[in-house]
Amino acid sequence: MLRIAIVGAGPAGTSAGCHLARQGSEVVLFDKALFPRDKPCGDWLTPLALGEIARLGLAPELLRERAGASAVITSTVLRAPGGRHSRFGIGDRSHPEGCCVPRQRLDALLLAQALEAGCHFRQQALASVDAAEPTLAGFDVIVDARGSAAGNANAAGLRGYWQVTRTPEIDRLAREVSIRADPRCKRGYGWVFPVNVQPDVVTFNVGVGLWKADIRPGQGPREQLARFLAQDPVARHLDQHANRRSKPQGFPLAMGGWSGTQVGQGKVLRIGDAAQLADPLTGDGIGNALLSGRLLAEVVNEGERRKASGRPSTSWAQAWQTCFEQTLQPELRRAWWLRRLLEPTLIKNVAALALAHGPARLRESLHTALFGVRTYHDALF
Ligand SMILES: Cc1cc2nc3c(=O)[nH]c(=O)nc-3n(C[C@H](O)[C@H](O)[C@H](O)COP(=O)(O)OP(=O)(O)OC[C@H]3O[C@@H](n4cnc5c(N)ncnc54)[C@H](O)[C@@H]3O)c2cc1C
Repeated sequence: MLRIAIVGAGPAGTSAGCHLARQGSEVVLFDKALFPRDKPCGDWLTPLALGEIARLGLAPELLRERAGASAVITSTVLRAPGGRHSRFGIGDRSHPEGCCVPRQRLDALLLAQALEAGCHFRQQALASVDAAEPTLAGFDVIVDARGSAAGNANAAGLRGYWQVTRTPEIDRLAREVSIRADPRCKRGYGWVFPVNVQPDVVTFNVGVGLWKADIRPGQGPREQLARFLAQDPVARHLDQHANRRSKPQGFPLAMGGWSGTQVGQGKVLRIGDAAQLADPLTGDGIGNALLSGRLLAEVVNEGERRKASGRPSTSWAQAWQTCFEQTLQPELRRAWWLRRLLEPTLIKNVAALALAHGPARLRESLHTALFGVRTYHDALF
């Protein structure tokens, strides 16, 4: 039986743990935090992420029931720096609906699934994730799922929760996710995602994200959030009507690059944000974190089958690198390419015009790709 250590029990680590334990490996999940723990995030679960969560045993209805706090999303809104917007409906037969679940609850549920699958959990902060770390001695495979703490962060986000009394307008906003490109920072954006719909109040996740390389004195996430709250009509409306606001919390994230990401070294394999798998255009990373955990389990399974049947097998690192380059890297490249294309403010404003007045097919393609309803490959190519 393979002994596998997974460092980090976020979406990537728990997904890998769940699939590996179900395959019969002995899995120990290490995390420096005790769960439930919070993780600053937009809390938006793309339909693609919901598909991975369902594979872990939490179909969308069950997830929402167990989470106790969530919002079902049936429309997506894109706002250009100039203010023009386009809206697209999801949640019909051809486009599955999305959902927002606060990470504190989501990650606790994912860990519970991993424990149910047979993983062991140890609360422990590991000083390093390599074969030299004494705690990891004796494991056959070490999975680095520490998220951006693995040291690859190249972007940062800031998010807070705004609680607003229900009105017909708030009820409408409680079903849509909206993203607005920042007018001052060409790769920055802000979001409003509803996360909890209660009988009297709705809680919205409001935040901003930007690349570290774009941070200048007086041009950081806090200034960007202030600009977003002043300029975006939805964020402004919530800010004016909020009964409660949490203190915004920042967190780094690791977005994918065009090439050169090394995801394996010896018996240490990286997944999720530790492997820079967040989408370089939108910053969404939960879906790829979950998917990378499942793919890694398939690679390990295949390696074991080869060994058992006496067929030649490559190293874990080589096999995982090949899988990454064939499955995850092409989608990250498409996102990267689209980000470069849409970088100039003028292009974003022209694209918004085209979305509003151009063919419906264009609106469907861009919205479904950017909000993770379909892959970039399926939506755009
Ligand atoms: C502000 C913000 C908003 C975002 N919004 C969205 C969104 O709306 N939708 C979306 O899909 N993605 C979003 N993302 C990206 C998403 O949060 C990440 O891609 C996702 O959390 C990656 O999952 P992970 O399991 O790789 O890492 P994490 O979720 O970061 O989990 C890593 C785990 O490792 C543990 N750990 C770290 N170091 C150690 C150590 N030394 N020893 C032991 N344990 C350790 C941590 O405690 C943590 O539990 C956002 C990111 C940010 C920063």
